[in-house]
Amino acid sequence: MSSISDQIQHLASQTLRKTLQTVPLGVSRSISSGTLPIFIFHAVESSPKPYIRHLYDCHSPQSFERVLDEILKEFKPLEDLSPAGIANAGADRFLVTFDDGLRSSYEVATPILERKGIPAIHFLITDFLAGTAGSRVEEKFKASLLIERLKGQSAQERQDVQAILSRRGYTGGVDEALMAVRLEDASLYDEVAERLGVDLAAFFEADRPYITHDEAADLVRRGFMLGAHSCDHPRYWELDLDAQVDQTLRSVRHVTQAFSLPYRYFAFPYKNRGIKPAFYERTRDEVDLFFTTSGWGNRMNRDKVFHRVGMDHQPDAIQALKCGWRPYPLSLIQ
Ligand SMILES: [Zn+2]
Repeated sequence: MSSISDQIQHLASQTLRKTLQTVPLGVSRSISSGTLPIFIFHAVESSPKPYIRHLYDCHSPQSFERVLDEILKEFKPLEDLSPAGIANAGADRFLVTFDDGLRSSYEVATPILERKGIPAIHFLITDFLAGTAGSRVEEKFKASLLIERLKGQSAQERQDVQAILSRRGYTGGVDEALMAVRLEDASLYDEVAERLGVDLAAFFEADRPYITHDEAADLVRRGFMLGAHSCDHPRYWELDLDAQVDQTLRSVRHVTQAFSLPYRYFAFPYKNRGIKPAFYERTRDEVDLFFTTSGWGNRMNRDKVFHRVGMDHQPDAIQALKCGWRPYPLSLIQ
């Protein structure tokens, strides 16, 4: 359950979004000519994967191109993606980022970006890079896949799955219960999969959701940038400070060393909720820039933490910008 302050912030954020929607884009740009619009995508698929379908939306190649074209009408791609280049960029440029290192961001989105001359930063979850020993997948992918497989199953099978979940306290609708399973109870997905005759390991090995180390190296060769996105994508607000710092520094060191990068970028999984000043004190010497999706209301470390506009579910880039781009000083309204 969210706290009252979370609820107030959520309401305030909703109101601000509605208000910002009515502000012409040009006004936001003139108020804050020093704020670079940064976009975040995950997957680009002709048909959403079953393990993503119940988690978030994604663009088709056609709609991805369309939103890029809309953005290109208003902004030029930022070419200098160095820490100073990003930190000093203004509202006449834009930056594209991809989180999670999904295979479609490499296979589908990258050729489109290259054709249009748009650079991008890919943020990788280091334990999930494919093709390495012990590599894993996001646990919530299993929930989405199992929800998809439950469609068309008999009432008996749904009941059996419900019984497995409710034994550990996950009650209510079976889809919602599957999605609510916490990381420490993730073995429940194996139990449910067994009941439904789904071999999760074989499925994810065959489909391979994430890029490999070699594919990430290929992105660098082709002029794209890489950053870290934690070791295994936890919710930072559920971790203590030591674990937050450990996830951050281990993943940043992994990416910078494995790909010999002269810069160190980190994108928070989900968002930087639960982050205290001590976190930035303990990581600042090893991270050049941080990226998040909740710049609103968070004034901490404003010179190094960059807010991004979520684009996965947005058919209209300019409308998304008007709602989600919170240029300083608009981001200070609380
Ligand atoms: Zn992520």
